[in-house]
Amino acid sequence: MTERTAPHRVIVVGNGLAGARVQDEILRRDPTGTRVHVAVYGDEPHPAYNRILLSTVVAGRLTANDIGLRPPSWADDPAHEVHLGVAVTAVDRARRTVTRSDGGTDTYDTLVLATGSSAVLPPVPGMAHDDGRPVPGVVTFRTLEDCAVIAESAGPGSRVVVIGAGLLGVEAARGAALRGAQVTVVHPKSHPMEKQLDAAGGAVLARVLGELGMDLALGARASAVRTADGALQVDLTDGTSVAADLVVVTAGARPDTDLAAACGLTIGRGVVVDDRLRTSDPHIRALGDCAEHRGEVHGLVQPAWEMAAVLADDLCGGDGPGYGGSAVVTRLKAHGIDLASMGCVETPDDDEAEVLTLSDPTRGRYAKVIVRKDRLVGAVMLGNPEVVGTLGQYFDAGTPVPSDRMTLLLGHLAGGPAETASPSTMPDAAVVCRCNTVTKKHLVSAWRRGCHTTAAMAQATRATTGCGSCVSAVDGLCDWLHRADPPTADSSTPASSSDPRPATLVRSST
Ligand SMILES: Cc1cc2nc3c(=O)[nH]c(=O)nc-3n(C[C@H](O)[C@H](O)[C@H](O)COP(=O)(O)OP(=O)(O)OC[C@H]3O[C@@H](n4cnc5c(N)ncnc54)[C@H](O)[C@@H]3O)c2cc1C
Repeated sequence: MTERTAPHRVIVVGNGLAGARVQDEILRRDPTGTRVHVAVYGDEPHPAYNRILLSTVVAGRLTANDIGLRPPSWADDPAHEVHLGVAVTAVDRARRTVTRSDGGTDTYDTLVLATGSSAVLPPVPGMAHDDGRPVPGVVTFRTLEDCAVIAESAGPGSRVVVIGAGLLGVEAARGAALRGAQVTVVHPKSHPMEKQLDAAGGAVLARVLGELGMDLALGARASAVRTADGALQVDLTDGTSVAADLVVVTAGARPDTDLAAACGLTIGRGVVVDDRLRTSDPHIRALGDCAEHRGEVHGLVQPAWEMAAVLADDLCGGDGPGYGGSAVVTRLKAHGIDLASMGCVETPDDDEAEVLTLSDPTRGRYAKVIVRKDRLVGAVMLGNPEVVGTLGQYFDAGTPVPSDRMTLLLGHLAGGPAETASPSTMPDAAVVCRCNTVTKKHLVSAWRRGCHTTAAMAQATRATTGCGSCVSAVDGLCDWLHRADPPTADSSTPASSSDPRPATLVRSST
C-alpha cells in the first residue's frame, strides 16, 4: 500500500480580492485539495467581497449584500478553509509558522502575502486621534465599514467634503452627490485625476463635476479639521474654510508591508517579488496591492487577478511563463461620467510621438491619443465610451493603428459613416473583460459550450464579475452570437462552470 503524502499547505494572509482569488484559482486546479490545501486568514469580519464595487454601493446602486464574491453556502465545504476576523500578526520564517491574532499558530509550506493596501490619512491637525484612527465624522474609503459610514451620513442636504480627487475621490464624491449631499472636493493639484488625465482633459472633468453639482477647491489642501458649532470645519491652505457633516479622505493608499518587513523580507514600495511572485524568501510569495513587481505597485484588480492565476499554477505544479506585468486601462465608475485612461497621457517631449486631441467641454467630452511608431502608447477618453474598446485592443496588442489617425478619436474614418464597434470585426484576442482578462475567444468558446446568455457566460468565464463595465460589451457579443451562430437544441444546455463558485453578474454600469 502506498503511503499518502500530506498536501502542500498554503497559508494566504488577506481575504481581499487577491487572496480570495488565489484560493479560487487553486481550488479550480485541485478542487478536493489533494495536492494543495489552502487556508486563508482575513482580518476583516466579512466573507470576501468585491472591493472595487464599493463606489457603486456608496452611490446606492448596489447593496453590501450584492458584492459578496461567493454564495453563503460556499463556506460549508470543508475544503474551503477561511478564518474571518483573524489577522496574522507575525511570521517565523525559520519554523515556517504564523502567529494569529486569536493567539494560535499555524504552519505553512508556502506563505502567500495578500495584505493589500491601506488608506493614507495625511498629517492634518484634527483629522486623527493620536493612535492614527480618524476622529468621528472623518472616514477613509477602503472597506465595507467605511461605505456604511458614508452611506449613513451622506443624505439629502448633508455637507460632505472629499479630500483628494484621484479616481477614488471622484467616485466617492459622485456617490455622495447621488445620495443628495452637497459635496465639496478639495484637491492640491490644478485638476482632478492628474494620474489619468492631462491638464486639458482634467479641466473638462472639473467642469463636468461642477455641472453635476459638486464644488471644487483645486490647488488647495486641508490644513486643519476643527469642530465648530457641533459640525466639522475643514480649513484649507487657500485661507477658506468649509463646513462638513462628513469628511471623506481619499488621499492615496499605501501597500501593507508591515508583516513582511517585520519578518525581514525585502521591501521597496511594496514587498519585492520576481516573476514567480517569490519574495526574498522562496517559501513566501506576495501578490496584489502589497507586491512590487519590476518596480511597479499597481493598486488595481487586473494585475492582482493575473498574479493569482500565475501563482496558483506555480503552486499546483504548472510550468507557465510566470507573471510578466499587466497593461492596465483605468475606468472611472461614476454615474454619468464615462472616463477611461491608458498608458501615458502627458504629451511627450519628442518628435516621434503623434498626439491628437479633441476637446468639447460644453458637452463634457475630451479625447486624446498618443501614437509612437504607429503604435498606440496612451489615450484618454472622456464622454466617448464607444471608442474605448477599440483603443484598448490597439493598446493591448501593440498592432499598427489606422493610417487615418482620426479613426482613433472618432471610432470611424473622418467624413465616413459612424460605425459602432462590432463584435463581428473584433479580433479573437480582444480583451472584453479587463478585470478578469477574458477575450472574445474565451466568450465565443463558452457560447459553443452552451452558455447562451450573459449570465451563463459570466458563470463560465468570470467576464462582467469585476467592475462590471464590460456588461454591455458581453450583452452585445451574446446578441451577435444569437444571430451569427444560433443555439441548436442539443447545444443549449449550459456548460458547467470552470470556476468553483457561481459568479455574480455585475450590472453596475454607472
Ligand atoms: C473604493 C475602491 C474602488 C476601487 N475601484 C477599482 C477599480 O475600479 N478598478 C481596479 O482595478 N481597482 C480598483 N480598486 C483597487 C482594488 O480594490 C485593489 O487593487 C484590490 O482590492 C487589491 O486586492 P488585494 O487583495 O491586494 O488588497 P485588498 O482587496 O485590500 O485585500 C487585502 C486584505 O488583506 C487584509 N489584511 C491585511 N493585513 C492582514 C493580516 N496581517 N492578516 C489578515 N488579513 C490582513 C485586509 O484587511 C484586506 O481585507 C478600488 C479600491 C477601492 C478602495
